[in-house]
Amino acid sequence: MSAAKQPGLAVGPRGQGKAPFEGRTAVISLRGANRLKSGHVWVYRSDLVSATDAGPGMVVGVNDERGRFLGSALYSSSSQIALRMISTAPVADFPALLRERVGAAIAYRKPLVRDTDAYRLTFSEADFLPGLIVDRYNDILSLQILTQAMDREDARAALLAELTENFAATTVAERVEPHIRELEQLPPRASGLLRGEQTSTIFTMHGVRFHFDVREGQKTGAFLDQRENYAAATAYAHGDALDVFCYQGAFALHLAKVCAQVTAVDSSRPALEVADRNALLNRHEVEWIEANAFDLMKDYSAAGRQYDTIVLDPPAFAKNRKSLETALRGYKELNLRALKMLRPGGVLVTCSCSYHVGEAEFLEVVADASRDARKTLRLLERRGQAKDHPVLINVPETGYLKCLIFNVSN
Ligand code: SAH
Repeated sequence: MSAAKQPGLAVGPRGQGKAPFEGRTAVISLRGANRLKSGHVWVYRSDLVSATDAGPGMVVGVNDERGRFLGSALYSSSSQIALRMISTAPVADFPALLRERVGAAIAYRKPLVRDTDAYRLTFSEADFLPGLIVDRYNDILSLQILTQAMDREDARAALLAELTENFAATTVAERVEPHIRELEQLPPRASGLLRGEQTSTIFTMHGVRFHFDVREGQKTGAFLDQRENYAAATAYAHGDALDVFCYQGAFALHLAKVCAQVTAVDSSRPALEVADRNALLNRHEVEWIEANAFDLMKDYSAAGRQYDTIVLDPPAFAKNRKSLETALRGYKELNLRALKMLRPGGVLVTCSCSYHVGEAEFLEVVADASRDARKTLRLLERRGQAKDHPVLINVPETGYLKCLIFNVSN
């Protein structure tokens, strides 16, 4: 892989010319090497020819079978993704490289992130920091470590040092996903504070305020990938609005700025409790309903309820290729019911965060639903994840979120 193909992978002078940090080498197959040459950063275990002396989380040099050096990678002894490339050069000092990369990720976002004190600071592969996610919620940083290499003590120390340098007075909390630690064969670990003592704060996106508590919620706390879509939806939303899969109410509370009435539904009671506190914080009235969204959409459409704006933001239905068909059926049903309930001139904001459902496929599902509902849909916006969740063009897996906004008429 040449540095020109994936420029972000190139390292500064610190890494160059020296032996890879741990001095281990992995050899990969031609198929694996070709994948790297195409700009991807993963090597699957099936393409690993040998990695005899590589231990969990080590930095290894990667060679093809002819002995040509392809770059440096982080090794996982358990993941199907055996190697995650971190540099086209030998890496002599992994912690120093980490600090450089975190600094670069922070700098990348400075000109891009607007009107919010909550956004993603590092997005794993997309920032050449495989397995590291750090989200900022005002004065609390919430981090997730997803690979053996990022869990190393020296990596953790480097990370904390760099975050401290950039955000001096900020608490750093770690969110542990127990099943991921299990998959990575890492010892169990509790979620908790790595620095500071603050456990809750209030963050603000586009003037809308939200409670954040390090001990509550899904993911690192909020779905920051939707942030720019909240603002986009607000530009078209009007009248009576329905937010389906509302979580802690981010779409609903943005819609409440411009809509006459907002109803929002989720199956998670803890999420709705925070949503209700968020509504109070913003002095907005939203009707929160705890229900299975599929049942509610069925009942409401059968009862002839009508809305002017509907947001659909379900969880990822297709976790893998195998569940694709079921997922597409789920998307179709939701979109069909939503379209039936929209008044002429209505707005549909429909999202999919399943990587395995591509944008073209998702558009086709909505098109199919529009034919069944006998509605005319005009595509107002074709959107993706917020810019602080960058999509690396040669690593398609970094792009997963689709958010389509339609004008709907009879
Ligand atoms: N729109 C939200 C994010 C939604 S994430 C935001 O922007 O913040 C998906 C949500 O769907 C989660 O809150 C989860 O609790 C909820 N959920 C999952 N399955 C559900 C179901 N069958 N019915 C209703 N809600 C469901």
